[in-house]
Amino acid sequence: MTRTEQITTTPTPITTPVPAASDPLLQLAYETQPPSGPEAVRGVLHPAELALRGMPVTCSACRARRDWLLLNRRRNVWVRCRCGNEWLEPEITRQDFDALIADPTWTHHPSTEAGRVALGFDGTFVGVYLDS
Ligand SMILES: [Zn+2]
Repeated sequence: MTRTEQITTTPTPITTPVPAASDPLLQLAYETQPPSGPEAVRGVLHPAELALRGMPVTCSACRARRDWLLLNRRRNVWVRCRCGNEWLEPEITRQDFDALIADPTWTHHPSTEAGRVALGFDGTFVGVYLDS
């Protein structure tokens, strides 16, 4: 097993345009205003049990029954568990989410992935209830 080929690689020139969000002023405006556009992702923590039509929501992966992260984008609302399991929950409407978001603990992040990691819903705390 000997390699005789000379591998030559040409470095790929970096031509990635600077995204508009890197503008400090635009970024500041984004961070200081609640997301309201159709593409905005909103998240709200739901530490208590969540009942839909009288049925408590249970994680199909780890059997957790509370301590959810609810994510809203457009008309869709997802439920995310601490174990990293996430599913679209059609029983929760955007109106329901708007009612939940009246809670002052709601937060928002530039992306769903950033929100998951920031809030500890990237699977790090599987099987753990973090509320006090
Ligand atoms: Zn789970």
